[in-house]
Amino acid sequence: MARRGEFDLVRTRLVPLTRNHKAALGLNDDAAVLDPPAGCELVLACDTLVAGVHFLQTDPPEVAAMRAMRSNLSDLAAMGADPLGYLSAIAWPRDIAETWQDRFLAAWAGDQERFGCVLLGGDTTSTPGPLTVTLTLIGTVPDGRAVTRAGARAGEDVWVSGSIGDAALGLAAAQDEAGAPAALRHRYECPEPRLALGRALRGLATAAIDVSDGLVADARHLAGASGVAMEIDAEAVPLSADAGTWLESAGERGLVRLLTAGDDYELLFTAPAECRGEIDALAGRAGVPLTRIGHAGEGEGVRLRDRSGRPVEAGAGGFTHF
Ligand SMILES: [Mg+2]
Repeated sequence: MARRGEFDLVRTRLVPLTRNHKAALGLNDDAAVLDPPAGCELVLACDTLVAGVHFLQTDPPEVAAMRAMRSNLSDLAAMGADPLGYLSAIAWPRDIAETWQDRFLAAWAGDQERFGCVLLGGDTTSTPGPLTVTLTLIGTVPDGRAVTRAGARAGEDVWVSGSIGDAALGLAAAQDEAGAPAALRHRYECPEPRLALGRALRGLATAAIDVSDGLVADARHLAGASGVAMEIDAEAVPLSADAGTWLESAGERGLVRLLTAGDDYELLFTAPAECRGEIDALAGRAGVPLTRIGHAGEGEGVRLRDRSGRPVEAGAGGFTHF
């Protein structure tokens, strides 16, 4: 049987992902034409994922697809944006099986439905190298309401959603590391972009970032953009029950490992102290725990301390590609 060609793939698998959105023009034209909703600004985020770098070569197609889509959606969540659509550029390995492609794109179809976005355009090609997926997510935010990294002021509280370090332990479990809790694999395989929370933080958070490089590294990014220091109580950082159990036998650098590991896609944000009650109430509505882990101070960088106030050395503290 002849291999499916590019045009067949577009017609049978990609056009349905547009859900007939008029901006996509049926994927039949040179570009999409998007009419932005009235009173909104567009929020654009672009990320590339490479097999063997951002996910394991052995990961199933659903994991590759969800990690690509959800890490991008997480960037929109950090800005307080609502997803609208996306452009995708996919370089498939030459010998990829059609069933692998189908499973990958079916996972996108599921995530589109779940998070409210559609395919608006893009490109598909083949490569002698590893699977490479570039997504440009397009979101909307009411005029002037985007939450950036730059608004934190000294004296404000620092908050984080969910639990930290789970994705790193889940990845370690996927790589058969001794002692890594297998129950956390799903936190690595299908991260949960905090879109509802991000939306609710518009007008409440003064600055926000999603935790992708590691809590310490992302706190440093937030500190740098806002021109403040981040004072973080290492022992206040929320851990899941599985991570807590793992930590008991992990030795003294275990906590630093959790605080400097990436991929949790939780939201780290700042807010004035008078908003504490409102933020506690929000946690219930958004269905995700929100924990106060420190405060912004004068100066720069991240100061990590244990409960008795002693500095905790986190080293470079985060993932970097270069
Ligand atoms: Mg980000």
